[in-house]
Amino acid sequence: MLNIVLFGPPGAGKGTQSEKLINKYGLVHISTGDLFRAHIKNQTELGQRVNALIAEGQLVPDQITIDMLEEEVSKNPGAKGFIFDGFPRTVAQAEALDTFLESKGTRIAGVIALDVDQDELTRRIAQRQLETGRVDDQADKLQKRIEEYFNKTIHVLPFYEGQGKLSKVNGIGSIENIFADLCAVIDRY
Ligand code: ADP
Repeated sequence: MLNIVLFGPPGAGKGTQSEKLINKYGLVHISTGDLFRAHIKNQTELGQRVNALIAEGQLVPDQITIDMLEEEVSKNPGAKGFIFDGFPRTVAQAEALDTFLESKGTRIAGVIALDVDQDELTRRIAQRQLETGRVDDQADKLQKRIEEYFNKTIHVLPFYEGQGKLSKVNGIGSIENIFADLCAVIDRY
């Protein structure tokens, strides 16, 4: 199996690149943000539990997120592999993912961090807020998400670096150029 973590701050382009990567490599895309938003839209019990947290830009508690992710992986038993987008966002999630994949006889092939500076991120998210109206893209909520990223999520990088699995790709440039850089990394796995 080819399991890849696409990593980066809010607005780095993980969703856009994931869509292209799943088409090229025949993988299943799992975005925890998209899954949570679907639960909220469908007003499931989980959706009702996480709605306020997400609207405020806070992370959902680890165990809720891990359970949802494991269920989603298990729904795709024949998958050639997965692109994890927006997960893991904490070291506890990264550890849980390792344990879970090992129990399935597989592992993370590599983690690719999309590198984008703060000014560009702010610009992209302001644009997305206009297009999609996502409440957590509003300036004050976005500030909370950036804090969560620097307090909790950034520590996932040294975790994978320690495993020798981390690569960085410049996330500024044309979608096609960034995609080509990602493919060059993946083709070495
Ligand atoms: P972004 O556009 O910032 O990458 P996502 O769409 O991936 O955001 O996620 C939106 C929100 O969903 C996050 O701000 C957080 O509240 C929640 N969320 C998504 N993934 C996780 C996770 N792995 N752990 C905790 N909360 C998560």
